[in-house]
Amino acid sequence: MNKPVLSQEVLEKRQAHYRKIAHLLIEHYGYPEWRQHLPPVDELVCTILSQATSDTNRDKGFYSLKARFPDWESVRDAPVEAIQQAIHSAGLSNMKAPRIKSALQFITDTVGDISLDFLQAMDINEARHWLTQIEGIGLKTASIILLFCYNKPAFPVDTHVHRVTRRLGLVNENADATKAHYLMEQIAEPENFYADHLNIIRHGREVCKAQRPRCEQCFLKTYCQYYQKLSDGESQA
Ligand code: SF4
Repeated sequence: MNKPVLSQEVLEKRQAHYRKIAHLLIEHYGYPEWRQHLPPVDELVCTILSQATSDTNRDKGFYSLKARFPDWESVRDAPVEAIQQAIHSAGLSNMKAPRIKSALQFITDTVGDISLDFLQAMDINEARHWLTQIEGIGLKTASIILLFCYNKPAFPVDTHVHRVTRRLGLVNENADATKAHYLMEQIAEPENFYADHLNIIRHGREVCKAQRPRCEQCFLKTYCQYYQKLSDGESQA
């Protein structure tokens, strides 16, 4: 898709709005310093496993796969059924097992071995383009790998970030996750993407929950479009 472009005036307003929100998030949750979560190929496999499942089941599937096979070459060369068995607890194993196998094969065919270290030297657009050539790796997954493994300026938009940023009016209510991703990359400061991303997720999990957001206890309510609408609705009722 074409990246959404905001007028200079709207962009500056959103950036100013976001600065206040990001500041409060840091005040409440701290400033998480970047650290590599997993080596890049592990992260790629883990993100494939994370599709449509809980973190707990993703981790069960991931560690069971690591325990069953000594290295990624063995996973690449294993029968799909054996991978499927190992990742059973992550769910959708019939879809995820062939994806993992073909991703490892794609890396081998293109790079010569199973390593993603070369991405470090690429710029963000080039690296993102390379990763999204792999079947099953979309914008979100590629951005997670680039941010968490290399601290590159990518702003992954998962379900929590999507919901919270729309409620806060940082992105339009009807923006899909892709649009929200490109908007957040324009609104937030690249050097804070990692800390902001983690803080927004934490806020989405602990306070701005999908079903029942805890607006009354929320330290962002003064800046929240959703809360504003809710209050306006109540005062008119
Ligand atoms: S006020 Fe409510 S909707 Fe707005 S960010 Fe806080 S919890 Fe979410």
